[in-house]
Amino acid sequence: MRFRLCPFLCALFPFLFCAPPAVPSSRDWNRPVKPFRIADNLYYVGASDVTSFLITTPEGDILLDGGLRETAPQIERNVAALGFHMENVKILLNSHAHMDHAGGLAELKRISGAQLVASRGDTHALETGDRDDFAWGNKLTFPPVKVDRILSDGDRVTLGNTTITAHITPGHTRGCTTWTMPVTDHGKTYNVVFVCSTSAPGYKLVGNHKYPQIVHDYEHTFQVLRSLPCDIFLASHGSFFDLTAKRKRLDSSEGNPFIDPNGYRAFLDRSEREFKSILAAQSRHAP
Ligand SMILES: [Zn+2]
Repeated sequence: MRFRLCPFLCALFPFLFCAPPAVPSSRDWNRPVKPFRIADNLYYVGASDVTSFLITTPEGDILLDGGLRETAPQIERNVAALGFHMENVKILLNSHAHMDHAGGLAELKRISGAQLVASRGDTHALETGDRDDFAWGNKLTFPPVKVDRILSDGDRVTLGNTTITAHITPGHTRGCTTWTMPVTDHGKTYNVVFVCSTSAPGYKLVGNHKYPQIVHDYEHTFQVLRSLPCDIFLASHGSFFDLTAKRKRLDSSEGNPFIDPNGYRAFLDRSEREFKSILAAQSRHAP
């Protein structure tokens, strides 16, 4: 489903008048894929594009992102297929409060009994199911889910021997959270970055009365992301970090394809360029 305010205006000024590539029930995003290990205690348990990651520890497990509402049963099956148990998930985390990453959280919380830990900026959206969103009102809502612990920038979540840090990278949502953690693989330690999102799908960047500081927030976010050391590059959408291609290469003997610091830099360059061109186009046509 794509929202187009007007096909003619859309063709003339795509960044100004085309609406978001928000795809609530996209089969392309939600095709089942086989779960797999990325590094020692880090596993992929999401769908073909909407991601979900399982981090296991001796004290219980952490699950980052719940996909769409329809993804929840896939995540549950994927966790079980790897030999883990949803009842063992103690902490649920979220990249951001949009229906393609938070839609399954209420169900996953119900079956696991886990605590949901989320950013201050996205708590309201999580608890209302993204009603009255600054960009799309009530069009892309999801089942509301209660937040048990609210985090600020730099806060850490520790379970067992694993600590994961929240970096608030706002713009895409007010509390968009990029998570980082160290992980080991074949005896070496790597910095993992789980990028929230830097896209601005159909967003009004210039003169947005509902989110006046939106441009400042994106600019801050690119600065923060550039400052993070990254070896293993992951994100809320598989398309951001070439999930499918990397999964295929995982079984070859060339080393772990998810260790991709250059891919991370290239993603940031590409997405910052995209953001700047949207902003420039909107600025040119601003009243
Ligand atoms: Zn989103």
